[in-house]
Amino acid sequence: MNEEISTLIALQETDTKLAELDREIETLRQELAGREQAVRDKEALADQCREKAIELEQSRHGIKAAAEEAAGRIREGQMKMMQVQTSREHQALLKEIEEAKKQIKDTDDELLQIMEQTEAEEAQAVELDNLCKGEQKLLAEEVGRVEKAVQEVDKRRVKVQQMRIKFAQALSTAQLRRYEVLLQKRKGLAVVRILDGVCQGCFMAAPPQQFNNVRRGDKLYSCPSCQRIFYYIPEENGGSMKAASIEDDEDE
Ligand SMILES: [Zn+2]
Repeated sequence: MNEEISTLIALQETDTKLAELDREIETLRQELAGREQAVRDKEALADQCREKAIELEQSRHGIKAAAEEAAGRIREGQMKMMQVQTSREHQALLKEIEEAKKQIKDTDDELLQIMEQTEAEEAQAVELDNLCKGEQKLLAEEVGRVEKAVQEVDKRRVKVQQMRIKFAQALSTAQLRRYEVLLQKRKGLAVVRILDGVCQGCFMAAPPQQFNNVRRGDKLYSCPSCQRIFYYIPEENGGSMKAASIEDDEDE
């Protein structure tokens, strides 16, 4: 096989590995961010409960003031009662007093309900606060663990990066540039195997003549559909061209 092709394959494998390690770091950070967000959501919910309790308390004051006013109307009505002269006036006053009494009774029920609601909101806020405290403690430990894991992945990344530099230097500037443009345009996959005449990047069949050209392995050929650089290895070879020097997770 052409040496340039071997180098391109090795470069592709290091870049695939680098992308994989980047994803690993990203996943670790995202998991942590997700848990941090969950705690923040609970904190916000606790604040909402406290705000709701304050609102309920305010409405309780309003209702109480209205009840006191009704009590005042009862006293006033009872005073007037001593001075009424007609039975019609008497009836009207009695009705007013009864209505005020009913209002006070309804108010009592309502006040009780509001108090219960307020207590429930406050209790929920306390419960959420406690949950948050516990989770924050766990999270602090988790941050340490994730940072350590990220550092580990980063160490492996540095090694792969060093190998990449070596492979990249073995290519001509023009070839490297072509590879890197392709890598960017083709979602991190610039060098692909051709298998049974089919591009393993875009899965389009290449013309038979081109397949034969690629098989000869004397120079570089690109997929006519996706422009990725082709390489060929006999089928019994399982498809793995992994350069022996590329680190494996098992090596760790
Ligand atoms: Zn293709």
